[in-house]
Amino acid sequence: MGRKFVVGGNWKMNGSKAQINDILAFLKSGPLNQDTEVVVGVPAVYLDYVKTNAPANVEVAAQNCYKAEKGAFTGETSPAMLKDLGVNWVILGHSERRQIFGESDELIAEKVAFALSNGLKVIACIGETLQEREAGQTEAVVFRQTQAIADKIQDWSNVVIAYEPVWAIGTGKTASPQQAQDVHKALRDWFSKNISAEVANAIRIQYGGSVTGANCKELGSQPDIDGFLVGGASLKPEFVNIVNARQ
Ligand code: PEP
Repeated sequence: MGRKFVVGGNWKMNGSKAQINDILAFLKSGPLNQDTEVVVGVPAVYLDYVKTNAPANVEVAAQNCYKAEKGAFTGETSPAMLKDLGVNWVILGHSERRQIFGESDELIAEKVAFALSNGLKVIACIGETLQEREAGQTEAVVFRQTQAIADKIQDWSNVVIAYEPVWAIGTGKTASPQQAQDVHKALRDWFSKNISAEVANAIRIQYGGSVTGANCKELGSQPDIDGFLVGGASLKPEFVNIVNARQ
């Protein structure tokens, strides 16, 4: 397999300097498994602060960016601005961006392509709603979301896919290890069929949706789960246990 485990924290719109200092303190004392890549997704206004104060083994991600270098896009952040701060990662296509802010598959794919072409690494989020799962559309939805990205990029080496069933995000309902593994395996097969065997073998697919210190080990032992994207629990010291799930 040889895929490096990668655990992301998505702080969402949470935090203050005081709370961030607490988070940085538990990240610093860890200890964090050296074989796991750790990336924290930080609100835009705190990116510089976290980049300056995070330990060297913790990378920093923005939670969004736009698909233009600069200009009349009030309220947006460009990949060039992130690079200027030394921020090398961005989370794109989170279900909250899709659902609350109306971001389409196509816009997300354009953002992914633009971020990659500007040297950022991307955590690209996909996942089905409860209604879609109950209608038996899970695979069709995640394949459609992935195909939209595939239409715009050629090189997947700086992309991590985060499979996040929408019904599991922030709800306390986790996909069972088998449910998650089934979708991850289906995605890897999709990559093999539609992109290449090499990309299918190399691409890292995180699971996200109510991951906790209590359920991370079993989820992380599935063969096609290469890490996690963690919301609520990334604000708490148990995040260290999640980073270390594969130890
Ligand atoms: C997320 O925000 O990506 C997420 C998975 O949230 P939570 O872990 O809180 O479900």
